[in-house]
Amino acid sequence: MAMRDGAAYLAGLRDSRRIWHNGAVVTDVTTAPGFKNAARTIAAYYDFQCDPANRDIVSYEDEDGERSHRSFKIPRSKQDLRDRGAAFAAWAEHTGGQLGRAPDYMNAAIAGVAAAKHHWGQNDPQLGDHAVQILEHCRRNDVCLTHTFITPQIDRKTPLGEQEPFLTAGVVERASDRIVVRGARILGTLAPFSDENLSMVLPIVSGENEDKYALGFTIPVDAPGLHWVCRDSFDPNRSTYDYPISSRFEEIDTVAVFDDVEVPWENVFDYQDAKIHNTALMVMRFHESLGHHVIVKNVAKARFLLGVAHLIAENAQTNSFINVQIRLGEIVTMLQTLESIAIAAVEGAVENPDNGVWYCNANAIQSGLRLFPEYYVQIIDHIKQIGGSNFMAAPSEANMEAIIEALGPSVERYFAGAAETSESGIAKVPLFRLAWDVVGTSLAGRQELYERFFFGDQQVSKSQSYLRYDKSEAIETVGRLLDPEFLG
Ligand SMILES: Cc1cc2nc3c(=O)[nH]c(=O)nc-3n(C[C@H](O)[C@H](O)[C@H](O)COP(=O)(O)OP(=O)(O)OC[C@H]3O[C@@H](n4cnc5c(N)ncnc54)[C@H](O)[C@@H]3O)c2cc1C
Repeated sequence: MAMRDGAAYLAGLRDSRRIWHNGAVVTDVTTAPGFKNAARTIAAYYDFQCDPANRDIVSYEDEDGERSHRSFKIPRSKQDLRDRGAAFAAWAEHTGGQLGRAPDYMNAAIAGVAAAKHHWGQNDPQLGDHAVQILEHCRRNDVCLTHTFITPQIDRKTPLGEQEPFLTAGVVERASDRIVVRGARILGTLAPFSDENLSMVLPIVSGENEDKYALGFTIPVDAPGLHWVCRDSFDPNRSTYDYPISSRFEEIDTVAVFDDVEVPWENVFDYQDAKIHNTALMVMRFHESLGHHVIVKNVAKARFLLGVAHLIAENAQTNSFINVQIRLGEIVTMLQTLESIAIAAVEGAVENPDNGVWYCNANAIQSGLRLFPEYYVQIIDHIKQIGGSNFMAAPSEANMEAIIEALGPSVERYFAGAAETSESGIAKVPLFRLAWDVVGTSLAGRQELYERFFFGDQQVSKSQSYLRYDKSEAIETVGRLLDPEFLG
């Protein structure tokens, strides 16, 4: 089958999934308020990939002679990475990087899992084969994946093996054809809109009684016993004029509860081998595999935010002031840095001789992953500082219509900007409603948390950057300059 369109994707969501929201199970996420708009957005992604105008950029002729999204292809050359980056960019730039979990993100992740076949299969070749078969299954059926990698944040100090067992999902039972999984994992973003879930690589296990958590597998979202517990939906079920972002991009986050879920053995690729499990992140070059999508999405997101910042400043003519120009210039510099990182990641890519797979440049990816969470917070602050009270002076569509009807069209001039007749032709009220949906609404708050955390905690990541960086050249340089004989 390979590439699906939006209608085929939506049809796949109408199953027996247990999506818990606001005290009840959502019977159909394609029609339920709070969910249907995001489902439509993901459907638009699938239509986008099938559109003849985008087809050659986003897809390739796969091993079966069908068209598949390039993100399913294991990169075997630098050109493959260039092509994959262009495919990621096509949708991300189209949507201003507003959908963190566009399905191509996890497509690339599952390709990364299969590329590490040699690792999973080193003691039991079956497990390596499973990893490859899972990728083939996902590619052939254009499966939309969510993922739950993380242990619920219950007690981060006490070793897992000393905590109540099965708070984090682990294996309770093994039969020849399946395992049974019990416990919870976080944080399945996009789960209500996905077909299957990937759980793997974390937690790192070290102590006694922890092997049961060393696990990697996929499972259908509607598997018996699997429950998805949503936070509140931040889609207010209002017009795109009122909430242009929240009404389109509420990808939602969930806690996965595995209530003794049977996972077929062929879906398991990482099983209770602490050594294989604990080194998987490094061997599968996890950051380089998944980070490629992230940095491309971040370029698109920063470009969109620059557009918002520039337009709100232009609208009130505050971009004539040097302090506002400095803020805008800082956003431009951040965007340029991210663009440079995206180029360096691919052009500095390297082949891994262990599996003949090409991976993005690790330094470029790491710096991109570390910088963006800080940039994001700074850009949001710049937009708030530039916009001032205007965010609060942007009435809803219905309120605008009502006040015009009551007081006549001349009332509109109180809600106009100075620059509405400028090149952009964008009116002030919808512009500031969009800007508020980026910096101030519930979804905006979630987006900030997302950028800070979704790829792991930045503080621990930064400390690991320091600890793992090869500092020998830096040390040698200091030694040379301390040498009294240096340069004669
Ligand atoms: C909006 C959103 C969407 C997400 N989507 C997904 C998803 O789809 N799939 C998925 O798998 N995950 C997802 N995540 C989870 C994300 O991967 C985690 O948030 C991230 O790994 C950090 O884990 P944590 O939130 O449990 O925080 P913790 O790691 O527990 O950190 C919380 C705080 O405690 C500190 N801390 C904790 N442990 C230590 C330690 N050992 N040493 C020093 N300091 C420590 C941290 O520095 C931090 O300040 C998402 C997160 C968010 C916020």
